Amino acid sequence: MRESAALLQAVAVRRDDLIALTRDLIRIPTLNPPGRNYREICDLLAARLRTSGFTVELIRALGTPADSARYPRWNLVARYAGAHPGECVHFNSHHDVVEVGHGWTVDPFGGELRNGRIHGRGACDMKGGLATSIIAAEAFINTHPDFTGSIEISATADEESGGHSGVAYLAEQGRFDPARVQHVIIPEPLNKDRICLGHRGVWWAEIETRGRIAHGAMPFLGDSAIRHMGAVLDEMERALYPLLATRRTAMPVVPEGARSSTLNINSIHGGEPEQQGEDHTALPAPCVADRCRIVIDRRFLIEEELAQVKAEVTTMLEKVKAERPGFTYEITDILEVQPTMTKEDAPVVRTVQAAIEKVLHTRAEFVVSPGTYDQKHIDRIGRLHNCIAYGPGILDLAHQPDEWVSVEDMLDSAGVMALTLQELLVTAPTG
Ligand SMILES: [Zn+2]
Repeated sequence: MRESAALLQAVAVRRDDLIALTRDLIRIPTLNPPGRNYREICDLLAARLRTSGFTVELIRALGTPADSARYPRWNLVARYAGAHPGECVHFNSHHDVVEVGHGWTVDPFGGELRNGRIHGRGACDMKGGLATSIIAAEAFINTHPDFTGSIEISATADEESGGHSGVAYLAEQGRFDPARVQHVIIPEPLNKDRICLGHRGVWWAEIETRGRIAHGAMPFLGDSAIRHMGAVLDEMERALYPLLATRRTAMPVVPEGARSSTLNINSIHGGEPEQQGEDHTALPAPCVADRCRIVIDRRFLIEEELAQVKAEVTTMLEKVKAERPGFTYEITDILEVQPTMTKEDAPVVRTVQAAIEKVLHTRAEFVVSPGTYDQKHIDRIGRLHNCIAYGPGILDLAHQPDEWVSVEDMLDSAGVMALTLQELLVTAPTG
């Protein structure tokens, strides 16, 4: 890494600006669902980035299922071209936040600054990271106006609900084509000294067992779908859960428990819908259940194949079927995401790693996320594999009440991002 004092100084003097920008972003409640104020936040960012010399495009994900006249899915892509053609470094942040929930002691959209921490929904996940990348880019451009290549900053919709109207949409338009963009950093809150290389895979599926309806007083005349599902759950406890717990991945997934294959049963529903009584109490129908459904959320490892993951569940269901007269089932896929992991020697990884050492005087830790984020679309649709998540904020605070991000952490991360830009986009050593 080359000389960096001037650049880090350019970041440090932007402290108040970074605080103000983060607070402004938090004060726009971009709640998803339903997808509020996406245009407002894109307009704020557009004004800001145009002032800094970026060319800005606002892109609505028309025709995607979540886009509507009431809640249009707006995305922003801003580009700053340097003095000479070269590689493009892209910072991608999602601008949506999850619902507020209970337990707050501060205004979730107040952007309150207290003891060096900015509070609010999205402070950590990930408006703090978005503001950090903007400050880093502006400090870099100011210090190296004659740089080679280009910088892109995007603020995208709907990451919290799958990213189909956000990064996936942009990727389908060729925005993450490796011919256009060479390095991607997603400033998700993984902590300022950690580099997130990717995430585990996901398979969501619905399993339904079937029975035959009858009077609840004479259950022998029917066939209970709930009892059939009970047999499925028994088999899962007996054979599948112990098997999954034995599998360990070489991926550095955090927290530790997520280094195994995991399976969650997200929901269960059996029987007829409950009837609303005259006194507004819900009463169950007095019937034998003819249907029972569960939704499973299976997180799989890079060492596992999706086909094998599915076959394991089907084999289990077939075993139950062979043992239980009258047992029938149906299984329906809901969601599939392949695991992804950028190589440790990829250029963006090596560069950010060196920048972390320079700014924080510590070795960067490589991690993999237990859940997915927008890297999946950049990897699969964009076919761009030089991509990481790196940003300020503590992951455990995401989606929690009184969510916050530390100003110091944002400044440190901005330093790391600015040095990364310098290393990738300044060809000749500058004094
Ligand atoms: Zn996030």
